[in-house]
Amino acid sequence: MSLHLYTGNIHIHSTYSDGHGTIPEIAAAAKAAGLDFIVVTDHNTLDGLAEEGCHHGVLTLCGSELNNDSHHCLALNITQPVPTDDLNPQRVIDRISSQGGLSFIAHPFERGSPLVMNGLHFPWKRWDVYGFTGIEVWNWSSQWRDALRGALQALYIGYLNPAGHMIAPCQKAVARFDEITRQRPLVAIAGSDNHAWPIRRWGGVVRRVIFPYEYAFRTINNCLLSHEPLAGDIATAKKQLYDALRRGRCFIVNRLLGEPHDVSFTAESNGLEYQIGEQVPPGNLTRLTVRSPRRPQGRSLLFRDGLPFRDFPSGEATVYLEHPGTYRLEVWRGNRLWIFTNPIYVC
Ligand SMILES: [Zn+2]
Ligand SMILES: [Zn+2]
Repeated sequence: MSLHLYTGNIHIHSTYSDGHGTIPEIAAAAKAAGLDFIVVTDHNTLDGLAEEGCHHGVLTLCGSELNNDSHHCLALNITQPVPTDDLNPQRVIDRISSQGGLSFIAHPFERGSPLVMNGLHFPWKRWDVYGFTGIEVWNWSSQWRDALRGALQALYIGYLNPAGHMIAPCQKAVARFDEITRQRPLVAIAGSDNHAWPIRRWGGVVRRVIFPYEYAFRTINNCLLSHEPLAGDIATAKKQLYDALRRGRCFIVNRLLGEPHDVSFTAESNGLEYQIGEQVPPGNLTRLTVRSPRRPQGRSLLFRDGLPFRDFPSGEATVYLEHPGTYRLEVWRGNRLWIFTNPIYVC
């Protein structure tokens, strides 16, 4: 069965909070970067909701990033503002859920940089929360900022090689994701957290935008899988998109390493095929199939319950499973992670 694939960026800031682009400008950048959808998430506001729709051919949706000093939580598919509560993130998650919204724990382990805002950072500390949709395991802005430890390095990764250290998702966030998905389904996403901050130093001698939206949209993104093509009307397309995201029918791609065509991860059991995010019922022999384009240094790594399980050269590979478990796939190109899928849950 062939699925429709839609690539887009989640966790973007616009002029409705501290970003530097309007929503139509951001959508134009997404169009130029070849994205299908964007989800703008301004801080503690839903003002962008009035601009939801199709801009420049890009499905443009608006959520919000809630809270201030800690426990930043992305709230998608909500229509009413949710009050912040830095000290009680469970209350925030519950209020998002009560509207039928999706909640993602944002940049949970960011540590900040001494060169930016005096090291200010916004971690997630309360892991006794429950009922949230997923975790942002890879946040471009946080990871980039966390790596700024000195002025020379800032010049290097600010100017010469911004993606140099963007190897893979946050390992602590992935470990927490694996820990939880041993117990219940959860959704991993990537966020650009892009603001297009203008930087001026030394009287304007150095000028830089960190980062232009179009650049960010060519880096880490999310690919959603849908059985049906996205509908022409916005309300239906929005429902389809959020439905795929809620079910974890999606994977993360680093587009700097290539477009995610010809990649699939499926399970087959009792003559039925199961996709990323789905649960395979117990009782029958299950076969996992991994497909990715052959590359000289390409490797596919399968994980079972968060532990390395199989390792193949890129291409096609099949594994017959003897045990239930939570299976996810990583595809690497050389020493960089290209694709990180949500799990298939074999019961
Ligand atoms: Zn944040
Ligand atoms: Zn943010």
